Amino acid sequence: MGYVMGIDVGGTKTALGLFDENKRLIAESRIASDPDLPAEEFFDVLIRHIKDLLNRESMLLEQVAGIGLGMPSFIIFEQGYIVKTSNLAHIHDFPARSYLSQRLGVPVFLDNDTHLAALAEHRYGAGQGYPNMLYCTLSTGVGSGIIINGKLFRGSYGWAGESGHTIVTPGEGILCGCGNRGCLMSWCSGSMIVKHIRLWIEQGEKTIMTELAGSLDHIDCFHVEQAYNRGDAMAVKAVDQMSRYLGLWLYNLYVTFNINCFVLGGGLLKMGDMLLEPIRRAFDGYNRDSSPVYIKISSLGDRFGIVGAAELIFEQQAGIIA
Ligand SMILES: [Zn+2]
Repeated sequence: MGYVMGIDVGGTKTALGLFDENKRLIAESRIASDPDLPAEEFFDVLIRHIKDLLNRESMLLEQVAGIGLGMPSFIIFEQGYIVKTSNLAHIHDFPARSYLSQRLGVPVFLDNDTHLAALAEHRYGAGQGYPNMLYCTLSTGVGSGIIINGKLFRGSYGWAGESGHTIVTPGEGILCGCGNRGCLMSWCSGSMIVKHIRLWIEQGEKTIMTELAGSLDHIDCFHVEQAYNRGDAMAVKAVDQMSRYLGLWLYNLYVTFNINCFVLGGGLLKMGDMLLEPIRRAFDGYNRDSSPVYIKISSLGDRFGIVGAAELIFEQQAGIIA
């Protein structure tokens, strides 16, 4: 046994959490992620911060049973190999698991951050008690993590749940980072809705969002929410477009998996019922079945990243993953 570290690597910041063997969080730290560093240097910086946190707690690496890492990356799970990373352009084609475990001398596991959010919410959050659960992240991007019979489903190549890139309007719409036009995310993710708003403004439509943001370039989802609350027609149109596509997405996932518990997390949920209620209405509009379907808000706050990452090590200890 021993202590377990859970690390949540994000595009702008990285959080480290140290847990005791009873899964209690005993220490944490936060650092800025440097998006300009090449992979080796990026992880060397991380290693330094791992050692700093242990030093601060008067602990040695030998007392650590394992380190779990969540990253916004495509990861071949078994090898802990990072294929590519959104928001960290230099972190790609890199054997992170072996690089870290060789330098630290402890077991290391890596997984995609949305997968780990699903795991965390299922074990300790809003998904507790549901054998099958879908965690849906609504943020800059849109994606999902799939729990089937209590276990995280990773798929053949490790990226199960990238359902934000299912194509809903082939060849039509804004080009997405996935390389296609018309994927679901291109209509409703946080970054994409802002692109739609800019297009509408360039086409001469009126909105108070430009004024609220100071300029066209500074509009973000916070301004959509503010403008919506003041009855701005374009903000209403944006929220309507997002909720229509997100409701469609949840329905498509429901009929694909017949999973009855959806836990929604991510920055867009700061909009609250303004977004949640129309998503629910769109979903109900498609659903012809009367069985209960639970659409819930995630409950772990912003600690889900370190909790989910640490859970990888607790799963290893329980013999669920190797
Ligand atoms: Zn896409």
